[in-house]
Amino acid sequence: MISSVLPTYSRAPLSFVKGEGAWLIEADGRRFLDLGAGIAVNALGHAHPALVKALTDQAAALWHTSNLYQIPQQQELADKLVEHTFADTVFFTNSGTESCELAVKMARKYFHDKGQPERVEVITFDGAFHGRSSAGIAAAGSEKMTKGFGPLLPGFVHLPFGDHDALTAAINDKTCAVLVEPIQGEGGIRPLPDACLKGLRDLCDEHGVLMILDEVQCGVGRTGRLFAHEWAGVTPDIMMVAKGIGGGFPLGAVLATEDAASGMTAGTHGSTYGGNPLGCAIGARVMDIIADPEFLAEVQRKSALLRQKLEGLVASHPDVFESVRGAGMMLGLKCKVAPGDLVAAGYAAEVITVPAADNVVRLLPPLTITDAEIAEAITRLDTAAGSLTPA
Ligand SMILES: *Cc1c(COP(=O)(O)O)cnc(C)c1O
Repeated sequence: MISSVLPTYSRAPLSFVKGEGAWLIEADGRRFLDLGAGIAVNALGHAHPALVKALTDQAAALWHTSNLYQIPQQQELADKLVEHTFADTVFFTNSGTESCELAVKMARKYFHDKGQPERVEVITFDGAFHGRSSAGIAAAGSEKMTKGFGPLLPGFVHLPFGDHDALTAAINDKTCAVLVEPIQGEGGIRPLPDACLKGLRDLCDEHGVLMILDEVQCGVGRTGRLFAHEWAGVTPDIMMVAKGIGGGFPLGAVLATEDAASGMTAGTHGSTYGGNPLGCAIGARVMDIIADPEFLAEVQRKSALLRQKLEGLVASHPDVFESVRGAGMMLGLKCKVAPGDLVAAGYAAEVITVPAADNVVRLLPPLTITDAEIAEAITRLDTAAGSLTPA
């Protein structure tokens, strides 16, 4: 008989009942060190006092009105995002998937309104993940996500990841945008080298094509800069954000330049919940904390520590690990064992990690993780890896 929860996930036998910073407490009382952060969502850890206060204060005042009215919390968060990024304007969503929907719509509408309605194609890359809607799965294009779901939203062109020559050959007068994650998350923590991102920007400029960055997983301080593309010194025209921006509350956003957003006039897009007072009150506090240069410098320092210790871990378990990759607090352990086996061994050692494609186990700890917790994480990962080594 089917379970009452639709069985689209094969879930671990763990039920967490409480969170404190980088720790998750299981129903039986065990304390797990959380290096997954709900897949890069709990950027400030669990139950951060500033976010609990923002949530409870706003909950006592007002939860929901409608985008038919002014929403001061939404205005505040939009102003902060505009102040700290390339963007001139922001639309709020409830998820990364919804951000993908708008990013694609915005790019197509841009060219429609410029008198080039034939420019509808979006170029994407192998191993990408952009969400589970019809546009999201068509954008990523992998058979795993698309098979059995009928006709896909047309207008996506898939290229090998990071292949500049293929990209140069594929951009033409039907292309409206190139959509890429600066660091692939689900795809196995695969960073696009800075030089590639720069080359991509140049190519887009040359052909008048919009560059859409999906920073749903790598954004909001994850790499030690507010957004990952800052490392390459280029800016997109449109950017998808979600996950970390809500610190655990469902919140997403699409950021855009004034020009890229020019087609999105009154009535062209909307959302019932997107930008509601609860989510935006929390998002504004997340931005206050993470956009602070001192906080980001601390993320960079701790990331270097974590990475250095992980290199040591890899060296001491050559049968289990191949290498470490990624940036900041978005790191991947490329494994010689099945990633699921390492994740399960981690559960036994009371440390949470997340599997990804390409034989990688992801480490996406809360950005607030302490030095002592990093040391403890390595001890627990060492135990997990040790349990997999053939005797
Ligand atoms: C998680 C993710 C999405 C989808 O976000 P949801 O909130 O699950 O809809 C899109 N793109 C990337 C890069 C992601 O990591």
